[in-house]
Amino acid sequence: MSQQSATGLDKSMLVGGEWVGADDRITVIHPYDSEPVGSVPSASESQVEAAVDAAAEAVEASTLSAYERYELLSATARQVESRAEEIARTLTSEQGKPITEARTEVDRAVQTLDMSAEEAKRMFGEYVPMDAQRGFARDHCFTQREPVGVVAAITPFNFPLNLMVHKVGPALAAGNAVVGKPASNTPLCGILLFECLDDAAAEVDADVPDGLFNVVTGSGSTTGDVILEHDAVESISFTGSTAVGKYLANNSGMKEVTLELGGNDPTIVWDDTDIEQAAEAVVGGACGNAGQVCNSVERVIVPEHAEAEIVDAIVEAAEALAVGNPFDEATQVASMVDDSQFDDVVEIFEKTVEMGATVECGGNYGGELGERVFEPTVLSDVTPEMPAASEETFGPLVPVISVPDFEAAIEEANNTRYGLEAGIFTQDIDRAKRAADAIDAGGVNVNTVSGFRADHMPYGGFKESGVGKEGIKYAVEHFSRQKLVGFHQGFTDV
Ligand code: NAP
Repeated sequence: MSQQSATGLDKSMLVGGEWVGADDRITVIHPYDSEPVGSVPSASESQVEAAVDAAAEAVEASTLSAYERYELLSATARQVESRAEEIARTLTSEQGKPITEARTEVDRAVQTLDMSAEEAKRMFGEYVPMDAQRGFARDHCFTQREPVGVVAAITPFNFPLNLMVHKVGPALAAGNAVVGKPASNTPLCGILLFECLDDAAAEVDADVPDGLFNVVTGSGSTTGDVILEHDAVESISFTGSTAVGKYLANNSGMKEVTLELGGNDPTIVWDDTDIEQAAEAVVGGACGNAGQVCNSVERVIVPEHAEAEIVDAIVEAAEALAVGNPFDEATQVASMVDDSQFDDVVEIFEKTVEMGATVECGGNYGGELGERVFEPTVLSDVTPEMPAASEETFGPLVPVISVPDFEAAIEEANNTRYGLEAGIFTQDIDRAKRAADAIDAGGVNVNTVSGFRADHMPYGGFKESGVGKEGIKYAVEHFSRQKLVGFHQGFTDV
């Protein structure tokens, strides 16, 4: 199979059922060699407004039943499945992740769509026993869930397909219309998803109104401001950096906002575990997608008395990773998405070493390794104030911090403004339970790394890692609102 990226993928935006261009276009490049992959329109403010207007009209006009929404999303899953290899190659072309990881992301997206389809049938309400309060024995009340209306779905570069599905699937399942806005450096897979939706809509036996799903590409701030200001947008679902998340939260007024933001996730490796297996998992969790994962292993916390043994095992696992061309089937670590991400990691690495950390392995970047490629790099003697420990690092660094005892490990795990996920390797149930209770994060994973996510589980961080939960069922709750319907005593005396 070719080791080259895709070329000539010049795509359009979907606005109100029409595929449209724009006066300006954005070129998308392959991170490993900087060759152009394709281009997308750079939407004007009026085009983003038109997309929201179309979505508002469509949701008003939509008569889709739960079963029809299930059919639409199932048909979309089949479309993605039938184009899986094309989408995976586009994903590697624009984002630079290894092709094997891209295939996994496409497979996850198919499952996320299928789970969204199923969830369309489960928008249950509940019966409220009114006779629990004195004087209401003859009243009957129940709740029903209704769509919120227009949902804006804004996604980052690192999982450009599955993160868009995480929003679009549940939003449509709940009966809403959506306006998707993928990241400008990786917009192509998001557009392919909307192509699949469009083909699915034409295929199913249901009246899917034009404008029920729209995708716009272009500057985040232009799009974001239109979305914030447009009255028809009821809900904003954002995944990305904490800085942009805070901007949206501070300017969203009465709109519902879900924020899936950054992380600086700890994984504790205690010495009562299988150190070799834990080390392999830690390295996989730190270096997958070249470390550009929100819940990747950002800090490894180990007991001082076993530090040398654990560091050796981590180094062995890191050195075993194949680094290089993302289209090579054997590659496990490839390029970072762009110069800005790459330069940030170089700076964090250099500063951390200047401050006294020891490079146990790796430490090379760029040059012969390939453009924007950073070698898996294990750092020891890391202290909490060094940038590799204190900042979110979107690169394949594995900083190891040693602590005197387990309480200090918990304290160190919580020594961050973030709280996305955490991992702990231990065979001691008391330590596991203590970590689960005491670590202030949206998820604590025992016997695996912080970077664990199944697409149906509730997922979302505490502190500066975000607000609200994703995961299909939880996103459907977020994208729908609860209405109380009451039947009260009438005027007849029965
Ligand atoms: P980013 O710079 O915040 O961009 C994310 C999205 O927001 C992009 O589509 C971007 O558009 C858009 N955007 C930029 N400015 C905006 C504004 N003023 N209003 C509205 N939208 C705006 O993040 P990134 O660098 O792509 O992604 C990396 C970050 O995402 C990391 O911090 C990572 O931890 C986080 N992340 C979190 C999760 C999670 O589930 N918690 C998952 C994945 C990633 P442009 O591309 O056009 O600028």
